[in-house]
Amino acid sequence: MINQNPTESYDTSPMFADNLVVLDRMTLEAVEAELNRHTTEQILPDDYTRFTWSHSRHQVFSRCRRQYYLNYYASRRVRQSKRPVVSAAWWLKQLTSLNAWIGTVVHRAAQHVIANHIKGRLAEPEAVVVATALLDYQGGLATSRRCTRHDGDWVLLMEHHYPDIQPPDEDSGMVRVEELVHALLESETLRWVLSLPPEAIREADDGFRYFMLEEAGGFEQVKCFAVTDVLTIADGQATIIDWKTGGAEKESSRLQTGVYRLYAHRVYGLPEANIGTRIVDVNSGQAVAGPEIGVAEAEQYVRSSIAEMVGLMEDTRYNTAAIADYPMTDDLNTCQGCGFRRICWRHTA
Ligand code: SF4
Repeated sequence: MINQNPTESYDTSPMFADNLVVLDRMTLEAVEAELNRHTTEQILPDDYTRFTWSHSRHQVFSRCRRQYYLNYYASRRVRQSKRPVVSAAWWLKQLTSLNAWIGTVVHRAAQHVIANHIKGRLAEPEAVVVATALLDYQGGLATSRRCTRHDGDWVLLMEHHYPDIQPPDEDSGMVRVEELVHALLESETLRWVLSLPPEAIREADDGFRYFMLEEAGGFEQVKCFAVTDVLTIADGQATIIDWKTGGAEKESSRLQTGVYRLYAHRVYGLPEANIGTRIVDVNSGQAVAGPEIGVAEAEQYVRSSIAEMVGLMEDTRYNTAAIADYPMTDDLNTCQGCGFRRICWRHTA
C-alpha cells in the first residue's frame, strides 16, 4: 500500500522529522544537483573513501545503480560536507527491515555461542541463549522507535519510519527469532564448529576481513572485503561458514563461495582443494549455494565487477561519481524494499 500523503504521516517518526525535513522543501531535481556537487568534489580519497570492493557491493550495483550511488558516494563524508541533503542520504542508508534485523540478532547469537567456546567457557543452556537473543531483538525495536543507538549501532527499521509500510509484526518477529535460534543451536553445522578445538576457529564474525587484488580496474591494488561468519582450519583443511536467515539467491551464494575461497587462498596461503564452504540456511540446516566455484573463476568475477564499477566513475583519482551516470531502477518492487525511497521520490510512486 502506498501512502498518498506521506509527509503528514512522517510527523510521527523522529528520523523523518529531524533529519529528512530538508527533503520536504526541495524538488528531486534540486536534491540531485546538490548530491552531484558533493559526489564530484575533488578530494583525494582516504582510507574511508577509497574505492573498495565486496560481493555485497556488487549485489547493490546489480540491483539499482542509484542505490549504489546513494550508498557508496552520496552518503560519504557526511560530517565534513555540512550539506543537509547528504545528511538525509546518510540517515536513509541506516534503514533496515524487520527481517534483516532478525537476521542480525541470529548472527549475534551464533557469534556469542562461538566466542564462549573459543574462551573455554561452559556452554550456556539453550534457554539462556534464546532469552539473550530475544532481549537483543526487543532492544533493537525499542531504539528504532526512539531513533537512538542499540549497543552502539543504529537500528532503524523501515517499518517504523516509512508509514506506508505495514507496521512491524513484533510478536511474530519474537517467534521467528526463537525458532531460528533453536534451529541454529540444533544445527549440525554449529555443533560441528563447537566440536573443534578453539584454536581451529580462526575467524568468528569478528571484523572486516579483506584481501588485496593487484592491478584491478586500473588501480595498483583494490581492497576486497570478504566477511566470513566462521572460518575454521583443522588438519590443513579450511571451512568457511555463512549463515543465511532469509531467502538466499542461489547464483549469488555460489559466487560468494568463490570469493570466500579466493580470500582464504590469498590470506592463509592454502591450496584451493583444501578450502571448503558451507552456506547454510539456518531454518532448514540445508546448504543453499550451488556447487562451489574455483579460485580462478572467482578472481575473474571480482575483476570484471570492479571494472564495471570503475567504468562508471567520473574520476578514478578522486573516486568521484556523477549522479546522471547512476539512473534509478524501473522496477518499483525493488524500490518498495529500499530505504532510499524518500530521496528518490519513490515513496509516492
Ligand atoms: S528507491 Fe528505487 S530507484 Fe531509489 S535507490 Fe532505491 S531501488 Fe533505486
